[in-house]
Amino acid sequence: MDDSNSNFTAKAIKLLNNYPLPQNRISSHVALALQQPDFMIDTHMHIFDFDALPPNYFIKRQFTAIPDVIIQQIINLIDKYKTKNQSKQKEIEKNLHRLLRTVNLGEQTEESIIIMERFFLGEMKAMLELYLDNYVPKAYTDHRERVITTPLMMDMEPGWGNTANKNYIEQINEVKLIGKDFAILPFVNLDPRRFENPITFNKKSYNLYDIFLKAFTSENLLKSKLVVGKTTPFFGVKIYPILGYKPSDERLMPIFSICEKFQIPVTTHLGGTLIIQNPEIPNTSGLASGELNQAELWLPVLKAYPKLRLNIGHFGGVTEWQLAKTGTSTKIPAVLKLMEYENVYADISYIIAEETIHDILLSYLKKPEVLKKTLYGTDYWMLMREKNFKTNILNFCKKAAKIKVNGTSIWKHISKTNPVAFYGLNINSVKPNV
Ligand SMILES: [Zn+2]
Repeated sequence: MDDSNSNFTAKAIKLLNNYPLPQNRISSHVALALQQPDFMIDTHMHIFDFDALPPNYFIKRQFTAIPDVIIQQIINLIDKYKTKNQSKQKEIEKNLHRLLRTVNLGEQTEESIIIMERFFLGEMKAMLELYLDNYVPKAYTDHRERVITTPLMMDMEPGWGNTANKNYIEQINEVKLIGKDFAILPFVNLDPRRFENPITFNKKSYNLYDIFLKAFTSENLLKSKLVVGKTTPFFGVKIYPILGYKPSDERLMPIFSICEKFQIPVTTHLGGTLIIQNPEIPNTSGLASGELNQAELWLPVLKAYPKLRLNIGHFGGVTEWQLAKTGTSTKIPAVLKLMEYENVYADISYIIAEETIHDILLSYLKKPEVLKKTLYGTDYWMLMREKNFKTNILNFCKKAAKIKVNGTSIWKHISKTNPVAFYGLNINSVKPNV
């Protein structure tokens, strides 16, 4: 492993020296958005579609209300959809719509059904468009050019043990192509087990480090598809420890070293434990997968790389914020402790879909030291399990816009100033060169 480490480090340095600063790794769409007088950044959202995830296991975890027989019917419909012509596809769309309506989705709403339909039949780009049309505050809906999103990818195969319809390398490519038309700052999810379990694509094998290098090239990977011009490299890295590994996994350390050196932001999951490792997969981390969700586990990483740009996704999670109301949360103080590191932030994605924690969260955000390290994020579309999620996130934005701290609204701090600082972007000199 040592050899392959130094090999990776040398290759990564050579590659990233082509665009050493964060602002050199953004697309012209992102550069344009940053030049608008008013723009917003969602630092945590997802656009992956059904084909990007291992099918059965994922549907069971995310859509717990759907009975097995219906899941099988949905999968049959999706299979048919792909092989049929347009008029037949319309009919299948109608059938799916009807089928989803027969399911008792409990708290899940009309909006969830719309998301599910796109998720099952659409592509990643369609998931992004649905977000831009529906899940940004009103002031931005007619001004897509002002909205920058951060789609976080998921590579669920190593933690779940079955394969997605769309190869992960293919997904990376698809996201790069979306970046040619939209202001996105995509993050590639890296699972350390890819070191021993590479992905095969076009008869080539891509291990953990090859995936990183491919994501951060500006080249397009699918030579078979006609692509005009270069694409933009990925912007950040997503780590999801509760799929079965420690943040300080030795296979990840060379990656964090590069991320620190080139100011590549890393976002981790530290919230709910719905999407954890499949219990049938051996876990060698020494901890149960639900326990890999601890802020302290990042300390060895931050001791080694104290300037790492790290975002603690979900700020500890909804349950912890409920406990914070009575001062009994242990995780939130631990997250705040990590945020004392220069470049460690936390995002409020998913938790703002829960209205009952808005007040406590806003009371923390009135403290300048917490506010300056907090990032806006939604966790679209994973938040669709929450009752009234759309109303709740948009209401939170309104509330945040009404409260000023140091002369600026909480909304502006978390959706503009702080994400720009976390991403290390110097907006006075943004000039895309890739
Ligand atoms: Zn998420």
